[in-house]
Amino acid sequence: MTPSPRLLLTIDYEPWFAPSRRYDTWTSEKRRELDDKISQQSLDPILETLGNSKATFYLVGEMVEWYPELPEKILNAGHEVGFHCHVHRKLDDIQEIEKDLIASTSWMQKYNVRGYRAPMINTVEAVYPLLEKHNFLYSSSIYAPTGTALKKGNVWEIPASTLVLLKTPTEFRAPRHMNLNLIASGEFPYSSSFMSGLFRHTVYNIIERELKAGKSPVIFLHPYEIVTPPNYFRRFAKDLLHHPMLLPFAFNKSKFLKDLLKNFPTATMQDYVRDLQ
Ligand SMILES: [Zn+2]
Repeated sequence: MTPSPRLLLTIDYEPWFAPSRRYDTWTSEKRRELDDKISQQSLDPILETLGNSKATFYLVGEMVEWYPELPEKILNAGHEVGFHCHVHRKLDDIQEIEKDLIASTSWMQKYNVRGYRAPMINTVEAVYPLLEKHNFLYSSSIYAPTGTALKKGNVWEIPASTLVLLKTPTEFRAPRHMNLNLIASGEFPYSSSFMSGLFRHTVYNIIERELKAGKSPVIFLHPYEIVTPPNYFRRFAKDLLHHPMLLPFAFNKSKFLKDLLKNFPTATMQDYVRDLQ
């Protein structure tokens, strides 16, 4: 059945420095120091902002080691906890993906995690049998037009949403990540917080239109876009100078989020998937 339209708001819960990629190879302990409790302290204000609206949080596993209270706090507030990878970095080798996943097994079993979001929404087709083997119900790890729901073996793929500007694509194999190919083929990846950072009003209008058309947009934000870390620009200046394209990730999007929550019904990804079956 087609579930009633709602906004599927997801939060890729990763450290504030994750977009830079410069710290991917540091030790977990050094990354924890760099995070400086920022990801721990931003959770309460985010939960408060969400109020009664439901969202899905895809957690980075090593952050659960740093701040073990994160999953329970999120679940107690009525949201879904999913998995974003154990250490945030590019993962496109299936053996590496499995090793990464196994590193987070214990907390994922404890909290019955059933949803997966690949880092950078960039994965490989072989991830689906792997997710099935590890008891996942669904993934949200490619980009595709709003409303797309794919069955990959026994695992659902509910993509981050794009708006089709040219011809509707018919093949949806991973990787389908945000790159010039995707945009040149006529899909606007409005679900990305990069786009809501640059084109807030346009993205809001697309979401409104897709919901009116009976579709459920999947969009994502990051914690550091909702609660700006203290001295953020000072902390992030060096990375921004190296990669000016990261700038839209540094914009605060709490006003955008509040507008969405005020005007649209939301649901967790898992509730949506259960309605699909
Ligand atoms: Zn991420």
